[in-house]
This record gives sequence, structure tokens and C-alpha cells, in this order.
Amino acid sequence: MKILRHSIIELEEVSYIYPNGTTALRGISLKIYEKERVAILGPNGAGKSTLLMIMDGILSPTEGKVYFSGREIDVKDDDFMYEMRRRVGLVFQDPDVALFSSTVWDDVIFGPLHMGLPKEEVRRRGEWALKILEIEHLKDRPPFQLSEGEKKRAEIAAVLSIDPEVLLLDEPFMNIDVSTQQKIITLLNEMSRNGKTLITATHDVDIVPLIADRVIVLN
Ligand code: ADP
Repeated sequence: MKILRHSIIELEEVSYIYPNGTTALRGISLKIYEKERVAILGPNGAGKSTLLMIMDGILSPTEGKVYFSGREIDVKDDDFMYEMRRRVGLVFQDPDVALFSSTVWDDVIFGPLHMGLPKEEVRRRGEWALKILEIEHLKDRPPFQLSEGEKKRAEIAAVLSIDPEVLLLDEPFMNIDVSTQQKIITLLNEMSRNGKTLITATHDVDIVPLIADRVIVLN
């Protein structure tokens, strides 16, 4: 029997040129299937961050098409983008981009709060996210005072509290200690077993087998 799998994200001949004229991506076509664990591998400057931002709908391709769940991403369609924001979460390489509140708690509940969830559910999600990242003790701390590993865990908690189906992670293990790295790998794989699609951009070949079943090489 033939089993057809649905792609959750698909790129067709995507190119991206930054406003200053730098070409970051040229003619990329790929499909990511639901519940896959994929690594985007390439050296610094290969276009990995740009690719993740295109998959997240933050950047629109200069050329080509991007589909999410079978529909072409249309940044002008507010309903569609709202749905995407709930279903796709991007963990940026630099946690400082994502942590902007005066406490870790406010950052972690920012997503659920703006999804209009009931107060009780916002709190439940915030507490759950802090617990699985083991950062309950950092709840009331200002994010800028945290170590890099703590910031990374707070950033991931702020994405997981939205409970997205697709997790996009940009070099999640940069500048963090081995023990935090191992905790994050275990957590991500648990998320994957629970049905999430995991897309991790990295320049580090050694971590690929720990977080992916398929590799897309960018160079
Ligand atoms: P990677 O994540 O693989 O290191 P990036 O997507 O960050 O690669 O960068 C791809 C290319 O685009 C590089 O040549 C980089 O210098 C360039 N680039 C990235 N961000 C910008 C920007 N905001 N403006 C201009 N060029 C950029």
C-alpha cells in the first residue's frame, strides 16, 4: 500500500536577497514532512538563519514560493499568519532577540497571553514550560541577568508555551554548557516523540545524529 505523507513546509525554488544586495539563498526547493526530525547543516553564512526565518514567515522570499500545511504563505493574510504563529515556533540563535520582558515569567507567558487564552490556561502553560525547562527558580529574574544557558532555556520555554506543532531551532547549542545541551536534546526528542516536527539549523556535524533523521545540506 502506498502511504502518502503531507508536507508541513515546502519551498519551491526559493531565493532571498537582503536589501543590501547580499544573496543569502538561491533556488532552494525542499519539503519537510509532519513529525520529521530534520537538520539544516551548513557552514556559517550558508543561509541557515535566513531559511528558518523564511519557513517561519518572518521573511518573504525574493523569488519562489513557500507553503505551510499545503497553503502558500501569504503575509498579508492576517488569519493565516495568526494560525502560523500558533503552529510554528522559532527559537532564534540569539536569545536576546526573543527575551524582551522585565521577567522570565512575562516572556514565557507572552505567547499564550497574546493568543487570547483564558488566564488560567496562560498560567498553566507558563508553569508547564518553566517546569520542563527546569527554570522555575528563574521565574522572577530579569532575562538580561541570566547565563547563556539559562537564557536559552527561557527562550525555548517561551516558544514551547505556545505549543507549536513545528519547532524551528537556530543553532540551539551555541554558547551553552554540555549539561544544558544534553537536557535540551533530551527534551527536543521527547517533543518529537509527542508528534512535533523538529527542524534544527546547525554548523555542527556531530550533533546531527542526536537531533535528526534527515539532513539538508546548505552551502
Ligand atoms: P547562517 O545562518 O548559515 O550563518 P545567514 O542566513 O545568517 O547564514 O546568512 C546568509 C548570508 O546572508 C550571509 O552572507 C550573511 O552575511 C548574509 N546576511 C544575513 N543577515 C543579513 C542582513 N540582515 N543583511 C544583509 N546580509 C545578511
